[in-house]
This record gives sequence, structure tokens and C-alpha cells, in this order.
Amino acid sequence: MTNEEMYQNLKEKLADIVPDVELRYKAELAVQINALKKEKNAVILGHNYMDPVLFHAVTDIKGDSLELSRKAAETDKSIILFCGVKFMAETAKILNPTKTVLIPSLAGCSLAASITASDVRGLKQRYPGVPVVTYINTYADVKAETDICCTSGNAVAVVESLHSDTIIFLPDEYLASNVAKETGKHIIFPSLNSVQPTNESLLDVQMVGWRGRCEVHEKYTVQDIANVREQYPDVLIMAHPECSPEVVAASDFSGSTSAMIKYIQHTSAPRYLLLTECSMGDNVAAENPEKNMLRLCSVRCPHMNQISMENTLEALQKNQYVIEIPEDIRLRAYQAVERMLHIG
Ligand code: SF4
Repeated sequence: MTNEEMYQNLKEKLADIVPDVELRYKAELAVQINALKKEKNAVILGHNYMDPVLFHAVTDIKGDSLELSRKAAETDKSIILFCGVKFMAETAKILNPTKTVLIPSLAGCSLAASITASDVRGLKQRYPGVPVVTYINTYADVKAETDICCTSGNAVAVVESLHSDTIIFLPDEYLASNVAKETGKHIIFPSLNSVQPTNESLLDVQMVGWRGRCEVHEKYTVQDIANVREQYPDVLIMAHPECSPEVVAASDFSGSTSAMIKYIQHTSAPRYLLLTECSMGDNVAAENPEKNMLRLCSVRCPHMNQISMENTLEALQKNQYVIEIPEDIRLRAYQAVERMLHIG
């Protein structure tokens, strides 16, 4: 495809979202990325939070953590280039140990950084025998300490599949609280620094959480929702389950990024607002031009925004940054991810 053809394609899809001068510049980069991708037998995975041009022009597989994890396990390409943050690329490596997994920038995540493998071992010592569920937004060594992973899309199903009176659910405080609410469970957040976990008997406790948070979703407030509803009374507001339970309760729908996309496609509200990373609003608007999408773009993920067209091209040119996981950790993490994939 020529630069001009790529530019015309992008213009058709993104003219209302991305300024023309940026489209022209990024079209050239996209052509180079796609040529190199073919030459190197690579596949590019793109999370829903990626920059709209990157998302639409160069990614082969798009989606949320669960979809990308599944597809990563099926690819026959020799290089997987993951346009997302490091814990996501690690999940691809956990599922594809023989493939080269690259990430354009070693982008972190406040949620993944909130808990260590040593923290999980501390909780397991305190609550022996209690199954541990970890959100997919964690690093490989944390996954390796746990029984099963989950995503925001399947967290309730994973918890219910364990048929256990008590569950340790890590590390997102708000996702855990939302899952506890949905499954009718009582949740506590113990401090690992105190000798006694809480005044409560473990017999009364059904979920043990952790105070990790996504630095994007924690910022949305009930007041934000009230302000938007005042200006647009007919708006349908959707909140990611990493938002606080109060924000989820004040919204009209809550679900994973993929669940939100499906919901928008199957409903016909006068306008929608997504309480999640702003780029996703752009990407949904591009895919569904007939839908009116509002965006609250004051809150951006500094980690997701590290991934650009420029460093995606550089990743292919220089074979960087290679994701490596020690095999003993990978094997244990694999079991936790694999168990989740069986549940769906
Ligand atoms: S949006 Fe939140 S959970 Fe996702 S990478 Fe950024 S900080 Fe982490």
C-alpha cells in the first residue's frame, strides 16, 4: 500500500478524530510498520486504549486483555509485537514461550506495580489454603504465586467457579469491591504490617482484597457523572469495573472494554460516555460513526500513552524490547492463566 492509499484509508475512518496533518505523517509510519511486520513474520496486537491511528492502521488483533491473551495463544507468527503495557506482553510470553515477544516501550501500570510476589506469599501465609485469584493486570511473578487469573470481563465467573467460602482477590481494590457486591460477598482489606489481620473472624470473611488501584479509573467521580448528566440528560454512561463502586452504581452500565463496545453496538442511546481511557472513546467512535461518543479526556493513562507509532516502528527495526520470563516463573504463571482461559 502506498502512503497516499494509507492516508486515504485513515482519512475515511478517522477524519473527525485525528487532525489531517497528523494523519498524513502517521500514514507514512504505518506503511513502514506494515512492510517490516510482513518481512519479519510478526503479528501486532493492540489494546483498546491505543492511539487511534496505531490501533486502526497497523494492529492485526485488537481487543481487551482477555481477547488479546486468547489470540496470542493461537498465533503462528514468529514475533508478537504487543502494543500495550508490560504485564500484557508478559501474558503473551507466558502463553507463547517459543515466540519472540516485543513491546515498543517497557510501559508500566500503577495497578500491576501495587503488589509484589512477596506480598502474595505473605497473604497466603496469613490465610493458608484460601484460593488466590489475581487480575490479569499483574506481573508474571505475581501470577506465578496465584491459583487462577481473571480479567474484568470474567472476574465474577472465575470467583464463582472456585466454589470456595473464602477467596483472596488481588490487587484491584475497586474491581474486588465490585465483584464482591455482584456476588453478594463480604470483603476486607487487611494490612500485611499488622500481626492480627482484622478484628473480624475469617469465618465471616468471603473475600480478601488488596488496596491497588488503576490511576486512571480511580479518578472518575460521582460528581463527574452528575456534571455530564446535567449538561446531557440523555447520555448513557458506562463505567469500567476498575472505577469505584459508587461510580459504577451511578452509571448505566459497567463492563470490560469489550463488553462496553458490544453494549454500544447493540443499543441506540442518543449519546454515550465511556469512563475509561480516552483513546478507547476515539477508537469506538471511529468504528461506529453513527454513534455519538462523548469523551472525558482530562484523565489519560501515562503508561498506555508511551506506546507510539515511532517506537512501534523502532521495536521492529531493532527487535526491542524483548520480554523474558524465567522458565520456573513462566510455568507457574501459565497454570494460572490457562485455568482462566478454560473458564472463558
Ligand atoms: S489504564 Fe490503569 S490498569 Fe490500564 S495500564 Fe493504565 S494504569 Fe494500568
